[in-house]
Amino acid sequence: MANIKHLGEFGLIERFRSQLKTRSPRVIKGIGDDCAVFSSKQDTLQLISTDALVESVHFDLKTISAEQLGRKALTVNISDIAAMGGTPYLAVISLGLPQSTSTRFLDEFYSGLQSVCKDYKIELAGGDTVASPQQLFINISILGEARKDRVFTRTGARPGNQIFVTGTLADSAMGLQLLKTRKIKSVSSKHCRALIQKHLEPIPRIKESTLLAKSKLQVTSMIDLSDGLVQDLSHLCGNDKLGAELYEAKLPFSQALKNVCQQKEYDPTDWVLQGGEDYELLFTIRQEDVKKLNSLFLKADAPVSHIGEITSFPGKLVLNKINGRKKFLKASTGFNHFKRSQRS
Ligand code: ADP
Ligand code: MG
Repeated sequence: MANIKHLGEFGLIERFRSQLKTRSPRVIKGIGDDCAVFSSKQDTLQLISTDALVESVHFDLKTISAEQLGRKALTVNISDIAAMGGTPYLAVISLGLPQSTSTRFLDEFYSGLQSVCKDYKIELAGGDTVASPQQLFINISILGEARKDRVFTRTGARPGNQIFVTGTLADSAMGLQLLKTRKIKSVSSKHCRALIQKHLEPIPRIKESTLLAKSKLQVTSMIDLSDGLVQDLSHLCGNDKLGAELYEAKLPFSQALKNVCQQKEYDPTDWVLQGGEDYELLFTIRQEDVKKLNSLFLKADAPVSHIGEITSFPGKLVLNKINGRKKFLKASTGFNHFKRSQRS
């Protein structure tokens, strides 16, 4: 199979360029010069974010296809722009490639990138390509924009604000567990497939974020869930300045997660609280806006759950259990690269 030695750096870049078909009129100079040149819109604030994916840390090439990896690498960046109420429009990518990388792998990877670029009208306007001694390394930086008065940040939640989350939680974490253990025979394959797909092909919540940005609702804080509900919620609480109460009965579980947890005798609530790589939006609004929020999401057929409330008790994250008891939650129960918590 052809590998990248035959093409060399410039041959490779030309191949990438020809695979990327999204052309934005705002990009005056794309791939091919020392910098990309683009125009920004008036009355907007610019958002920029970057995310790296390292083989063996973030993905395993035995379980994800090149096309899925391309999609996911861009999706996780789009999710950060969505988390602030923005619209992505331009990205650049750096690749660290082992010598053995095949051109077929890269063609499929770029096909994944291109399909996400097309779906969200993003132009991939440049990058860098270098050799990596052993493992594949991907870094994407993304630009987005938001209306000046509609940038949603992690800070701003107040006691009494109501907590909402889009979609269902922990499907991705369970999908990863299924991929790792491969002990999937005992569970219905339809459910397993759904969970694994949520892990390999997450969907950024741009529709929901745009819904919020275009509404008149006051979104007091927002974050996208990458490290688990409890850990990311603690960021909305200013780490330990505020607290939160969650209601177990309101947490969003998918049928697939419930089914797998039942088969394996796992506690689905623990999974939903810790999750990881959910890429759902967690946000707070004022109590008086709850009705409007619910009807806005209902009309748009967008999934959202009202899961709790911000409190003034510093650092206290409390789960009100279905059995009437209260459980105190530790903010540190999510993913942390350098602490090596429950997932690797
Ligand atoms: P320089 O030496 O000035 O850094 P390069 O030779 O690295 O320039 O890059 C040449 C052009 O190719 C630039 O426009 C750069 O953004 C683009 N490019 C390099 N690698 C990639 C890649 N993996 N995907 C897309 N564009 C790339
Ligand atoms: Mg240069």
